[in-house]
Amino acid sequence: MSTQKPIQTLRLDGGILCLDFANTVSNRMKPENHDYLSGYKDLLVWSGHAGALSPKTINTLERLAKGYPQKAAAVFNRSIQLRELIVRVLGRAMIQKQAAAEDMQLLNTFVAEAYANIEIGWQQSEERGVLHFNAPALELVNWLLVKSLTDLYTSERLRQVKQCPACGWLFLDKSRNGSRRWCNMATCGDVNKVQQWYQRKRKDQ
Ligand SMILES: [Zn+2]
Repeated sequence: MSTQKPIQTLRLDGGILCLDFANTVSNRMKPENHDYLSGYKDLLVWSGHAGALSPKTINTLERLAKGYPQKAAAVFNRSIQLRELIVRVLGRAMIQKQAAAEDMQLLNTFVAEAYANIEIGWQQSEERGVLHFNAPALELVNWLLVKSLTDLYTSERLRQVKQCPACGWLFLDKSRNGSRRWCNMATCGDVNKVQQWYQRKRKDQ
């Protein structure tokens, strides 16, 4: 139930926006997992929680979604399609392989749409140019996610993508020796330690 698991309590262990988005399902290893997202409004709440959109932009998109509920629902369906695509594409990248041809094709349709709406500007604080999306449109969250994914997919950091063996969440292993195993030591790491302890105990008996 979404009321029992508010989006605001969702851990952001991914290390990059597109991975945090992939982790909006509670446990990818279990069929009876909890999906934190059930509609466009959830997408906006999550975007605020993950720091992807400013409160001002969220307000604007909330108003737009109220005015165009069918469009908002269609955009949300695309978001979920994109989320599962992220998991599949990165799942292949983790074994140093290209994604399935139909997934690459789907990814390219997402890229074409997002990059048709991008523009280059100058960020004085960074003293460099930045790519950003100009108009507040219902699709904005998807575009941001596509940009996050393409940035990752075309960078050295792609090698850092790992999947937690306990819950299936994706994360960037930024440790110097690449030794991070769990999405989070406090949750999955601990569960595993307890399981190992029980297994050892059983063997001893
Ligand atoms: Zn985990």
